Amino acid sequence: MLPNVAFDAADLAAKDRAHLIHPWVDLGLTKDADPLIVSAAEGAYVYNVHGQKMLDGIGGMWCVNAGYGRGEIADAMAEQARRMAYFSPFGMIGNPPAIEFAARLTQYTPGDLKHVFFTTGGSTAVDSALRFVHFFNNFHGRKQKKHIITREYAYHGSTYLTASVSGKPADRGNMDLETGFIHHIAPPNPYRRPEGMSIEAFCDAKVKDLEDKILELGPDKVAAFIAEPLLASGGVIVPPPGYQRRTWEICRKYDVLYISDEVVTGFGRLGHIFASKEVFDIEPDIITSAKGLTSGYIPLGAMIVSDRLYSTLTDKAGRGQVFANGYTYSAHPVSCAAGMANLDIFEREDICGHVRKTGPYFHQRLTELADIDMVGDVRGSHFMVCVECTSDKKNKTVPPAEWNVGKRIFEKCQEKGLLARPMGHLVVMSPPLIINRAQIDTSVDILRQGIIEVMDDLKREGLW
Ligand code: PMP
Repeated sequence: MLPNVAFDAADLAAKDRAHLIHPWVDLGLTKDADPLIVSAAEGAYVYNVHGQKMLDGIGGMWCVNAGYGRGEIADAMAEQARRMAYFSPFGMIGNPPAIEFAARLTQYTPGDLKHVFFTTGGSTAVDSALRFVHFFNNFHGRKQKKHIITREYAYHGSTYLTASVSGKPADRGNMDLETGFIHHIAPPNPYRRPEGMSIEAFCDAKVKDLEDKILELGPDKVAAFIAEPLLASGGVIVPPPGYQRRTWEICRKYDVLYISDEVVTGFGRLGHIFASKEVFDIEPDIITSAKGLTSGYIPLGAMIVSDRLYSTLTDKAGRGQVFANGYTYSAHPVSCAAGMANLDIFEREDICGHVRKTGPYFHQRLTELADIDMVGDVRGSHFMVCVECTSDKKNKTVPPAEWNVGKRIFEKCQEKGLLARPMGHLVVMSPPLIINRAQIDTSVDILRQGIIEVMDDLKREGLW
């Protein structure tokens, strides 16, 4: 059936430039851009409209966890769309896939996280979590307990509120964001720790940052700390060992809610459906999920709330506890049917087990790239790894933006049949979780060649 090449590539590219607004793009470059147009995919491979077959090292956008071409998920969606494509979820109206999927998800959540609010993606899941926290404190008469602590280099989404709790410096410049009740502390990035500081001392310092910020604002004014277990889009930052648990304990100590944003780390990427408890030994108050929840086959997100919080709102009707938050497409039956089929695949094929077995190999193979002059750091865990490039390894210097290191590596790798995600001077690898060892070896070989060729080009151009 593949590859699907029945496209007029030039016509599509022209229409793209003329009419399609892409997310996260330098708009000034769009007029002359040559877009990568992908049109078919199977397993761990994606095909562009010219029929070129490429290994997907990006996993779509760290989301196609079960891999491409899963007829089972497509069939589940088609069947649900035929039976009942949609009905309003507002009030006490339910649909079987949403109800069943919510119940099934809670078999995997830690502690008493038993209540699921389905959203349209990760941003709306995080947005809902933040709004829930405010609603919860208002309801309990703690109207002053509103401040949210987050971290620089966090990424939590692209609504006004979630962009505001995000912290990638490059994204904050041209947008107006909420600053009144949102506070960023420094990221726990061991690669950037002060010269000579031990990893343990660095962990102490980063945990103290959170405690200091809570004390500075006043614990009675701080509502929540939001954290990705590993900071994903901010550059796969892996906090020092114990950081997650210790920050969670600080939150408990000061009655600050802990929101664990598992949009990327969930659904197998670190070897578990949710990583909070199994990997980091924390029981958050709220978990947010999306992406791998449907393996990217259709948009869906979830905010999952602990019974400890939720039950305080449900004991008696009519006290003004309407949670005025929700979407036309909350609990969409077709999305939830896809989620169920996706979970069936995870369970039947033990995808998490495969990740636990093969993920360390993927990470270790990529770590070998650290012998390249231009590679400053390789970090991550399982199928979530980032290669940080540098123009001066010893001083960990970030290469000048004009060198376009990430983009150049992306292009070299694409020519050779690998899609790797460029982020400034970083290259992120987050393949579908079904990738096998041979495909891992091919990916790493291509990435090595790509980085070396870019380095050679920079030297030839007299830039380096
Ligand atoms: N949280 C995290 C940790 C993410 O990485 C992302 C997206 N990359 C989001 C939230 C937002 O998800 P979405 O793009 O589905 O809205």
